[in-house]
Amino acid sequence: MTSITRRQLLVSAAAAAAGAPLAPAAARRPAVAAGANERAWRELERRLHGRLLRPGGSGYARAALPFNRRYAGVRPAGIARCASEADVREAILWAREHEIPLAARSGGHSYAGYSTTRGLLIDLGGMRQVHVDDEAGTVSAQSGARNTNVYTGLQPHRVAISAGRCPSVAIGGLALGGGFGFSSRAMGLTCDSLAETRLVTADGRLLTVSAHRHPDLFWALRGGGGGNFGISTSFRFRTTPVSDVGLYDLAWDAEHAPRVMLALQQMVRDAPHTLSCRMGMGSVGRGAATVTALGQLLGPVDELRELLGPVLAVARPTRALIARRTFWQAKNHFFHNTPVDRFEVMSAFVEKPLTEQAIDTIARGVDRYPGSSNPDGGGVALYAWGGQIARVAPQATAFVHREAEWLLACDASWTAKDSRGTVARNLDWLQGFTHELRPHLSHSAYQNFMDRTQPNWRRAYYGDNFARLARIKRRIDPDDVFSFRQGV
Ligand SMILES: Cc1cc2nc3c(=O)[nH]c(=O)nc-3n(C[C@H](O)[C@H](O)[C@H](O)COP(=O)(O)OP(=O)(O)OC[C@H]3O[C@@H](n4cnc5c(N)ncnc54)[C@H](O)[C@@H]3O)c2cc1C
Repeated sequence: MTSITRRQLLVSAAAAAAGAPLAPAAARRPAVAAGANERAWRELERRLHGRLLRPGGSGYARAALPFNRRYAGVRPAGIARCASEADVREAILWAREHEIPLAARSGGHSYAGYSTTRGLLIDLGGMRQVHVDDEAGTVSAQSGARNTNVYTGLQPHRVAISAGRCPSVAIGGLALGGGFGFSSRAMGLTCDSLAETRLVTADGRLLTVSAHRHPDLFWALRGGGGGNFGISTSFRFRTTPVSDVGLYDLAWDAEHAPRVMLALQQMVRDAPHTLSCRMGMGSVGRGAATVTALGQLLGPVDELRELLGPVLAVARPTRALIARRTFWQAKNHFFHNTPVDRFEVMSAFVEKPLTEQAIDTIARGVDRYPGSSNPDGGGVALYAWGGQIARVAPQATAFVHREAEWLLACDASWTAKDSRGTVARNLDWLQGFTHELRPHLSHSAYQNFMDRTQPNWRRAYYGDNFARLARIKRRIDPDDVFSFRQGV
């Protein structure tokens, strides 16, 4: 690999700053990490305000790990721990100059391990600042801010955005692929309240992207998925005032699944948009399945009790919490610290109410879960869609899945301790289960739950919006610098 001269650096930086494309030699998309020499890596280190981590060096092993440890074997040649937007830009330009593949990482939670690379990992995980502007009614968050950082920043101002349930998922990946949580039926998806984002492009331009500036990109960055159009360094969202909520957390024995799940579906259909619902069925193996319902009403707890009445009447729960909480207490209750280990997830949107037969298929499938040493086991989760999510037209943003009733996710998890046989049984179970559920599901899937086995993923993730996304991609990143297996 050639080393770079200072002159080349200045020329490329000046060209990029002026918005001009890089020279063709540097613009070619590398297929594999060609490998920069040590001098070039030292050069990158000098260009960064943050740290450059190399294999064997302090901090590297930990920083290299993705959340889904299935992909832990993909080891970056270097990790740029960015401290600023300028660092992100330098890292992109350097990777292009040296024909090194790159990947962006904010929180590292990509299901399919797409924030891993054998080239340069551009890691925004340390960029976590959150700032609320009360007067403007907005919150600004750097890409690496985790859900927990965002909520902590918002709480003193008694305003919220619709963010996710997992404390360590970062706003970067969450917002770019849509983003839903227990406030989405009331407030829309995370991307729906986006007012503006800062983007570093493949040729090093720094863009402010909003409804008025680069509107096509603004359309694409609301649901077009992470890793496709450039690297977003920060986001500004409109906030919504919040106060107390009614929280519910219920569980039943699996034998009640059909009646409970039918009643929960009816409840959501009749309820205001201020009600959220996650109904689930899970197992750790050996037939120990349970049915659960979790959610909140952004309103009085008495109204929540009324809404839940018909559900509670069909079967007596084994766990029943229905209580008034502050929005922030409820958020803490919902936080789920998924064990950091290995998993696979299949997702699909449900466009018609699930029939008794469909629920029976779910219950029988979960009952057959073969087990593993992961305490999360395997199962199905259904998230109520609709409300403000459905108020946005499918073509108004890149996030096309607006008309569904539920989002379904089916997952299997295991750990490094499990034998190959156990892993194979988990994956076979997931595949067989998905196959049985197919007649009850649409062919669309959630782009934030990426799944390497998803057939026809372009259509599944983006539907009719894919063609426009592909046109925008060709314009903003003609050399396909931001590239991964299921990339636009
Ligand atoms: C335990 C767990 C719980 C989850 N809960 C929810 C939930 O409640 N609601 C929900 O909607 N989703 C949820 N998700 C899915 C989550 O939203 C996606 O996996 C999301 O992409 C993760 O974002 P991240 O920044 O943490 O991940 P990363 O792996 O860092 O990024 C995901 C993708 O975006 C790219 N990317 C990352 N940062 C940037 C950036 N700044 N600019 C451009 N591209 C970038 C990456 O290259 C990668 O392709 C959950 C995932 C996990 C693992």
